Amino acid sequence: MASSQESKPTDVFKRQMTEQRQLLRLRMDKIKHKVAVISGKGGVGKSTVTVNLAAAFALHGKTVGVLDADIHGPSVPRLLGLNGQQVKVGPPGAFPVKGPLGMKVISIDFFLSEETTPTIWRGPLKMTAIRQLLSDIVWGELDVLFIDLPPGTGDEPLSVAQLLPEMDGVIIVTMPSDLSRAVVEKAVTFARRLNMPIIGIVENMSGFICPHCGYKIDIFQSGGGEKMAEETGVPFLGSIPIDPQVSTDSDKGEPFVIRHPDSAATKAFVGIVKNVEVYLDRRGTAKA
Ligand code: ADP
Repeated sequence: MASSQESKPTDVFKRQMTEQRQLLRLRMDKIKHKVAVISGKGGVGKSTVTVNLAAAFALHGKTVGVLDADIHGPSVPRLLGLNGQQVKVGPPGAFPVKGPLGMKVISIDFFLSEETTPTIWRGPLKMTAIRQLLSDIVWGELDVLFIDLPPGTGDEPLSVAQLLPEMDGVIIVTMPSDLSRAVVEKAVTFARRLNMPIIGIVENMSGFICPHCGYKIDIFQSGGGEKMAEETGVPFLGSIPIDPQVSTDSDKGEPFVIRHPDSAATKAFVGIVKNVEVYLDRRGTAKA
């Protein structure tokens, strides 16, 4: 029989937390690599980069998962044409929704009805719900899980990231107008607090390539990403131009790497994917 000491609500809560953590670790152990994607602020293309990275890896024959942990504006379901889907729940837990190329996708959106928007949740309650949600997901075996974290490098993305054990690294997405040393330094601090290596910086919306003549127009003065990366000692993964097809493909719910393999954005993206693959291969060798 449990003693009166053990049945105190705080003890019950602590025990539940430990159980959840163990379950989460068990589920995450089946995932070879976990990669988080962050940005200094919203609207720079973090979710677009996350889903296209995932799709590129899936196109290369990898088993891929996408975790939409952007609780303020979960956009992964829309970007993968999965709006309105619901997870299936069975005895072992909640099963991810199958997206394009068999990608396994989880978003807070799949658990919510229209009336319960996540933004009204209070901080601690939100974290408890997310912890529970994460430990309940049955990912199965995965080569890579890409995690779209909430924008910014403040307390909220940090708390969400802290719930995820042993990440392989983080990718910082930024755009030329947002590219300051302060943004990069904040991201470095963020990664250090989480004990996560930085895979590198992606400079998105870096110039516009005219679809008629192929000339590149530097709308926000592109190229700063590489310089900034050099100055701060963070690897530079590559830049993606502004490409109108990116947003039309997003609206249609299909990653541009699948829908437009020859577009300017896809061509630019190929190098970024290669750099991430090289990083993960090296890390896999180091872990083995
Ligand atoms: P975040 O996740 O950082 O808030 P999103 O990925 O939702 O940003 O992108 C914001 C908007 O910018 C979307 O409408 C998206 O289609 C568009 N976008 C992102 N990257 C590009 C690009 N390289 N070219 C054109 N539009 C882009």
